Amino acid sequence: METMTTATKTGSRLSSPLANVSSHSPLMIVGGGVIGLSIAFECAKRGIKVTVVEKGICGGQATGAAAGMLAPYSEIGEDPDDFFTLCQQSLKLYPDWQQEVRTVSGQDFEYSESGSLHLAFHEADELALESRLEWQKDWHVQAEIVRGEALFRLEPHLTKAAVAAVYYPDEHHLYAPDYVKALQTACQKLGVNLVQEAGEVRFKAIEQDGVLLVTEQKGMFSTDQCVLSSGAWTSFFEGDVHVRLPVVPIRGQICAYQQGQEKIKHIIFSSQGYVLAKGNGTIVCGASEDIAGFDTSTTEKGIDRLVKWSRHLFPFLKEKDPFHRWAGLRPATQDGYPLLGRLRHMPSVIVASGHYRNGILLSPVTAKVIADVVEGRQPNVKIDMFDPHRFQ
Ligand SMILES: Cc1cc2nc3c(=O)[nH]c(=O)nc-3n(C[C@H](O)[C@H](O)[C@H](O)COP(=O)(O)OP(=O)(O)OC[C@H]3O[C@@H](n4cnc5c(N)ncnc54)[C@H](O)[C@@H]3O)c2cc1C
Repeated sequence: METMTTATKTGSRLSSPLANVSSHSPLMIVGGGVIGLSIAFECAKRGIKVTVVEKGICGGQATGAAAGMLAPYSEIGEDPDDFFTLCQQSLKLYPDWQQEVRTVSGQDFEYSESGSLHLAFHEADELALESRLEWQKDWHVQAEIVRGEALFRLEPHLTKAAVAAVYYPDEHHLYAPDYVKALQTACQKLGVNLVQEAGEVRFKAIEQDGVLLVTEQKGMFSTDQCVLSSGAWTSFFEGDVHVRLPVVPIRGQICAYQQGQEKIKHIIFSSQGYVLAKGNGTIVCGASEDIAGFDTSTTEKGIDRLVKWSRHLFPFLKEKDPFHRWAGLRPATQDGYPLLGRLRHMPSVIVASGHYRNGILLSPVTAKVIADVVEGRQPNVKIDMFDPHRFQ
């Protein structure tokens, strides 16, 4: 699709002469976070020529801020649905996927098979954990309840106020800023064209068989298919694609301590937050969920709550202050589920956004599902529930 003289002109706020098309790519991905880069990596492996166009720096938004936990069993306490299956499928893909990213990129990102402990402080909490375990057994989740001495053997510095925990050996974590760097390198090694610092990217024109994109800084691009993986900014494209894409930014504030003598071995979950130790010698403690528009600053109140709670979980942290605090914008939809699939009225546009709290976890499965959609294949996981038209 070189020229777009018959194209449907969208109400784009940007304008640039049509003659200035910089290049044509069979597949273009808008957004270089973990979702866009994972899709690019998978598509490139399948032999598709891909261009990723990123407003700023790849991984510079939600992805770079993430704690990097791969923890669907701790995160999803309710009955299972297709979202649980999607998360579980992604967790199962991780061992091979991360190996592949490491091999192709030649870079490490502290993939740690730590396991996790989901804590209970009262008998009533224990009952809730037991009923969670009941349904998770039907889904072949490896889990057991540990109490008293057994719990403190697993996590010696944990507060003695904890009465029990569910131990999930299959929940792991990685260092998200390095993961996204490795994905970036892996993409480049497979020939993906990464266009960073492009400024705002907008649709200039959309046809049944292609899209014309205009960028603030890097000219115009044409493509046969375009994937929107623009995270918390996805709703800005609603006017262009004529469908509601209600993705809103939910700020997550998070902080880190320098690790000392005392080691934390697992991801520790509680109703008020989580604590985990990274391979780089830090202890990460997260995270708030607040609405602050597109503001990525931290607040005293947000961080103080995390500090109080992390010191409650690990009393040795009373001796320390966080040396680093940051925040990122989780892309959240109204129902909390991602938007995954092709737009029926504009088949050249595919949406992959709204991964909210689980974008790092969901990166391999999203990559495979969207690569299947790009190739016109039926994905081997159910995605009806994630239909991007469902808010219409
Ligand atoms: C504090 C915190 C902790 C988290 N912890 C975890 C965790 O432990 N495990 C987990 O699985 N998930 C976690 N998450 C969630 C996870 O970070 C997100 O779900 C994931 O990063 C979303 O990835 P994304 O690629 O969709 O979005 P982003 O990483 O935000 O990437 C979207 C990209 O699109 C670009 N963009 C936007 N608009 C345009 C445009 N018009 N043109 C061009 N580019 C554009 C942006 O610049 C951005 O780089 C956490 C999030 C936060 C904030």
